[in-house]
Amino acid sequence: MRGFCVEERSEAMNEIMERVVARDPSQLEFQQAVQEVLESIADFVAKNRQYAKARILERVVEPERVIMFRVPWQDDKGDIQVNRGFRVQFNSAIGPYKGGLRFHPSVNLSIMKFLAFEQTFKNALTTLAMGGGKGGSDFDPKGKSDNEVMRFCQSFMTELFRHVGPETDVPAGDIGVGAREIGFLFGQYKRLRNEFTGVLTGKGLNWGGSLIRPEATGYGLTYFAEEMLNARNDSIKGKSCLVSGAGNVAQYTVEKVNQIGGKAVTLSDSDGMVYDPDGIDEKKLAFVMELKNIRRDRIKEYADRFKGVTYKPAQPGASSNALWDIKADCAFPCATQNEISGKDAENLVRNGVKLVAEGANMPTTPEGVRVFVDARILYAPGKASNAGGVATSGLEMSQNSMKLAWTREEVDHRLALIMKAIHRQCVACGQEGPHCNYVKGANVAGFKKVADAMLEQGVV
Ligand code: NAP
Repeated sequence: MRGFCVEERSEAMNEIMERVVARDPSQLEFQQAVQEVLESIADFVAKNRQYAKARILERVVEPERVIMFRVPWQDDKGDIQVNRGFRVQFNSAIGPYKGGLRFHPSVNLSIMKFLAFEQTFKNALTTLAMGGGKGGSDFDPKGKSDNEVMRFCQSFMTELFRHVGPETDVPAGDIGVGAREIGFLFGQYKRLRNEFTGVLTGKGLNWGGSLIRPEATGYGLTYFAEEMLNARNDSIKGKSCLVSGAGNVAQYTVEKVNQIGGKAVTLSDSDGMVYDPDGIDEKKLAFVMELKNIRRDRIKEYADRFKGVTYKPAQPGASSNALWDIKADCAFPCATQNEISGKDAENLVRNGVKLVAEGANMPTTPEGVRVFVDARILYAPGKASNAGGVATSGLEMSQNSMKLAWTREEVDHRLALIMKAIHRQCVACGQEGPHCNYVKGANVAGFKKVADAMLEQGVV
């Protein structure tokens, strides 16, 4: 079958992109995510015309369903607050919708759609049967009492429950949604439905949760990075590592980097970053976990508590972040989207970084991605390297359906195997001579699986 020529190829991709922009001109994050995928699958789609013929690209950029709802709740003073809730059910070609819930004041429809779109291809890479979805609210859990968080979660689930279910859509945590929030959400779902099912993942161990799920994204990220280095006969062992964020993904990335013999030297939150040249060892990490997960306080305290640590406050609006200007071998962005600018990427490359593996979703701006790809460093996009979290959520779903619980070793072993399988798929679709383009590899492999399923299921 004849493929597209170069001009036809770019014209076809441009047309789809123009339609995405025209439909939702203000959804910049969503446009950014779509652009990245379209660019890297262009050649593949050009060579395989069945996708264009069935309008797969036009269909794959349009969510199957978007749900937006009011979330009214009462604060501790008795005042009524109103937030907005979202669930984007993007693509169910290969399984029930699956993806986290994010509670953060920045949440809007563009961010929900970009995350759900990315999730579709990420879930395809995990080798498990999960479609793509994402949800959340502009509710800010910071500074709220446990009772306020509970009332909010109950109100949120009072609407969401009619759209989710173990065979339909299975949410999990993300920024601002951890074990506490999943507990409140599950409690309300159970009460409304009068059934005990695996409707959420990241559950407590006593009520259907899986061992290793809290650790999974950070551990999986580190396994993936180690796999990339191993492919070059190298290892994380002995390497200095920059980690941003101080939440779930960042904490378990630091833990696994330490276990493999690397040295994590930074952490951050939205107020600033800490640089500890001696390394964030097990004892210091335990302090961070208590600080962030129990006291829910600021990372600055780390610098007050330990000697030789530098604290730098965040500079909103600046073109670069001091964290990415520290000389190190590896970088693991684990906070949020667009946290590595073009200038940050240049600083990392100039300082000789060997590997950048994304724990967060889309933490690198398009300018930054270009710098990494052109410099031919080892660069893993989040949809490949942070897929360990959702993969282990998939393992939690399997355990729930079988009504049994695997050991820690069993789950960890399966997680490691899945990260290896994702790496293999990236190499199979992204190898360019001696170098692997992981962005292309992840996007092509993820797209192919979803697109083939869509072809086989007809126009739905
Ligand atoms: P988390 O536990 O809520 O931690 C998020 C961390 O990032 C916090 O330290 C937070 O600081 C910081 N942060 C958030 N927004 C920020 C901003 N606008 N500027 C600077 N710092 C910011 O969330 P998480 O689960 O670790 O998620 C982190 C990233 O990983 C997200 O991109 C998420 O989508 C991605 N991810 C998570 C999972 C998972 O299993 N949890 C799986 C795959 C991908 P503050 O406390 O100051 O806000």
